[in-house]
Amino acid sequence: MDKTFHIVTFGCQMNVGDSDWLARALIARGWRQVDEQDAWFFVVNTCSVRDKPEQKVYSELGRLLTHQRGKPGLTAAVGGCVAQQIGRGFFERFPFVRLVFGSDGVAGAPDALETLAEDPSARIALLDFLSVYPEREDVLSGVLKGALPVAVPAFDADQGEPDAGPAQAFVNIMQGCDNFCAYCIVPYTRGRQKSRLPEAVLAECRQRVEQGAREITLLGQNVNSYGLDPSRQGGGAGMGFAELLRQVAAIPGLLRLRFTTSHPKDIDPAVIRAFGELPNLCPSLHLPLQSGSDAVLRRMGRKYDRARYLDIVHALRAARPELSLTTDLIVGFPGETEDDFAATLEMMERVGFESSFSFCYSDRPGVASARMTPKVEESVSKARLLRLQSLQNSITKESLKSLEGHEAIVLLEAKSRKQDDGPCFWRGRDEAGRVVNLRLDDIAPAGPEAQASEGAGLALAGLLVRARIVEAKNHSLLGEKVGQPW
Ligand code: SF4
Repeated sequence: MDKTFHIVTFGCQMNVGDSDWLARALIARGWRQVDEQDAWFFVVNTCSVRDKPEQKVYSELGRLLTHQRGKPGLTAAVGGCVAQQIGRGFFERFPFVRLVFGSDGVAGAPDALETLAEDPSARIALLDFLSVYPEREDVLSGVLKGALPVAVPAFDADQGEPDAGPAQAFVNIMQGCDNFCAYCIVPYTRGRQKSRLPEAVLAECRQRVEQGAREITLLGQNVNSYGLDPSRQGGGAGMGFAELLRQVAAIPGLLRLRFTTSHPKDIDPAVIRAFGELPNLCPSLHLPLQSGSDAVLRRMGRKYDRARYLDIVHALRAARPELSLTTDLIVGFPGETEDDFAATLEMMERVGFESSFSFCYSDRPGVASARMTPKVEESVSKARLLRLQSLQNSITKESLKSLEGHEAIVLLEAKSRKQDDGPCFWRGRDEAGRVVNLRLDDIAPAGPEAQASEGAGLALAGLLVRARIVEAKNHSLLGEKVGQPW
């Protein structure tokens, strides 16, 4: 059986990061990442945050099976939160699933896939939680040194996030979460917080920059509590998040640094100050608010209130006035009244979030809020979500509009998805992470190698270009280049 693989990723950036690492690890072992129709091994990296997560995974596996009929030996691996929950149940329901792995099991997935390739009867479950961060590859001894950056695997488009480009790297700094917010399944599916050792994080970041990354996103369920694991002797990894951020930012050649996700209750004043002090720390922050009502925040167990959240926003904007804030919001949490919801709308306006991910609340098995009453009627939640999203759309529009006429530095990711026979447009991101599309068809790819590649397709990805913003679209910007990419 050919060692060819294809990865489908659902969910958050943690999953995107896991899939990216897995792809690099397999390529380093001689596997080939190919299009769906050519693959013998599929990895479905799952998420249980959105509605009906199991059904979504079942339907994806069913689709793959139908698609690939006539390929005996075709194998699937299911990873991530749904794999952790359903576990070996996948083996019975879908016999072509021969590997299940949870988030602590990702480190063992490449070896497990090798075993499956050699032994067609093998079935492997990697579902145990570990007490320390399971180092995914011996980056210190350079096992992955030969592995070139790869295209980020296919991403669940309904999350609204386009794929990243080759110059953008995701580096895990921690795993799991100890917060047990009332609605969240993550502490059960990803386990307790485990911080990765700073030297391993720094080694991987340096290596990614040497391999061509110009932007790094540090990932963790709650990066602000990095290094403060209660399970670790002495309580930490020897370094807090603010210091880690400084050391990563100081890596020569790193042009952009981002991090996600931040819990407001844990944000350190030193991290806030870093926005004003580190020029390559990008002026954007995703800071989940979840609700604008103190009563709802209390029931959610979020451990901050409106006033504290607004203080943080104030301090962040004092440190970096152009900072763009985005957030997550849950609508229809048990007991949410019309007044509670109005408080969320009011916070949205007051903070001026540039965009938000918002969802109707739904019970997840085993979490505290599943037992909370009264539940908000689905029709009420849906109507509130529409109102919230409509307000968000108008704030987004206004804030993007205010950028017209300004200049931005855009990191090019890929050709824009909608290409007709007209001019060639490229998609990239400005410093704050906004999507900018710009026309670049008059730029010749540099060097003979690039010319032999798919036109300018591969040559321009990862380059920076200065652009003037000429038009604000609903969720993105249209720019025109000023000067040549570099
Ligand atoms: Fe879930 Fe809360 Fe942890 Fe975020 S901080 S992962 S919402 S428990």
